[in-house]
Amino acid sequence: MTVIGTGATVGFIGLGTMGREMAANLLKAGYGVRAYDVRREAVGDLAVHGVVQAASIADTARGADLVVTMLPDTPQVEEVILGSGGLVEHPPAGGLVVDMSTISPQATQRMAAALAERGVALLDAPVSGGPTGAKAAKLSIMVGGTTEAFERARPVLAAMGTTIVHVGDSGAGQAVKLCNQLVCAMNIQAVCEALALGRAAGLDLAKLREVLLGGAASSWMLENLGPLMLAKDPRAGFRIDLKLKDLRLANEMAFALGVPLPGTALATSLYLEARAHGEGNNGNQALYRVYDRLTNQADK
Ligand code: NAD
Repeated sequence: MTVIGTGATVGFIGLGTMGREMAANLLKAGYGVRAYDVRREAVGDLAVHGVVQAASIADTARGADLVVTMLPDTPQVEEVILGSGGLVEHPPAGGLVVDMSTISPQATQRMAAALAERGVALLDAPVSGGPTGAKAAKLSIMVGGTTEAFERARPVLAAMGTTIVHVGDSGAGQAVKLCNQLVCAMNIQAVCEALALGRAAGLDLAKLREVLLGGAASSWMLENLGPLMLAKDPRAGFRIDLKLKDLRLANEMAFALGVPLPGTALATSLYLEARAHGEGNNGNQALYRVYDRLTNQADK
C-alpha cells in the first residue's frame, strides 16, 4: 500500500466556496494541485500561488495520485465520475478518488462499484465546518470506503481537516453527514422556537440565551447562530438552499430505508417556507424569520 503524502499530486474538481479553500490548504501542505471547474475563472488567484489550471477532467487526473471532488450535488458528481470524459474513463494514476461533496449515499455506492470495475477506489468524505473550517484546515471529515483506501488518503485529508474518522464502508460517510444535518436542522428550529416564545413573553432574549447556554439546552446553534438571530442578521453562513438539498437527501435516504423522520419532515417544511419567502441565499439563522411570520412579527 502506497500512502499518498506530501509531494504527491492531487487533482481537485470543484473550486467553489469550500473547494478553493481546501485546494489552497493542500498547496500549503506541500502537495502539487491540478484544479478544474466548469467556471474557468474559479481557479483564479490560486494559479498565482501554484495551482495548475487543468483544461478538463482527464487533464486534472493526468499524473495525479488522487482526485478530490467538491461539487454541489449528486448529479454533478455523477457527471464528473460516470459521464463522458469522466473519471471512470480517465482515472488518476494512483487509482483513488475522494468525493468530499454532500450527496446521496446510494448513488455513492453505485459510483464506487463502477470505479471498482476499473480497479479504482472511491472514498466518500463529506465535511462539516463550513467555509471557516475549510479556510482554517479544521474540517471534520467523515469517511466511507475501504480501510486501505482510507489509510492511503489520510495524509491528504489531514491537510484539510482535524477530525478525520473512518466511519464504515462506501456510503457510510454520506449517511453520517445526513444524520449530522438533520440534527442541525432540528436544533436551529428549537432555538428559533424558544426565542419566539421568549419574545412573546417579553423576556430579555440575551439573558435567555445566556442561561440556556449554561445548561442542558446549550448547543452550537444557540451559541453561534443565536447572536445572529437576536441581531436579526439573516445574511451569510450555510445557505438555506444548501441545507434544503441535504434535507432532501436525508428524506430520500429515510424513504429508501423505510424510516419515518417526523422531526426532519417538519424542519424541511419550515425551510421550504423560508425559501418560498426568498430566503434561499440567506444563512440558516434566517429560519428565525419563519417564526417572525408565524407570530406576526415580520415587520417589527
Ligand atoms: P459551490 O456551489 O460554492 O461550489 C461548487 C463548485 O463546483 C462551483 O465552483 C461550480 O462551478 C463547480 N461545478 C459544478 N458542476 C461542475 C462540474 N460538472 N464540473 C466541474 N465543476 C463543477 O458549493 P460549496 O459551498 O463549495 O459546496 C460544495 C459541497 O460541499 C456541497 O455538496 C455542499 O453541500 C458541501 N458543503 C458545503 C458547506 C458550506 O458551508 N458551503 C459546508 C459543508 C459541506
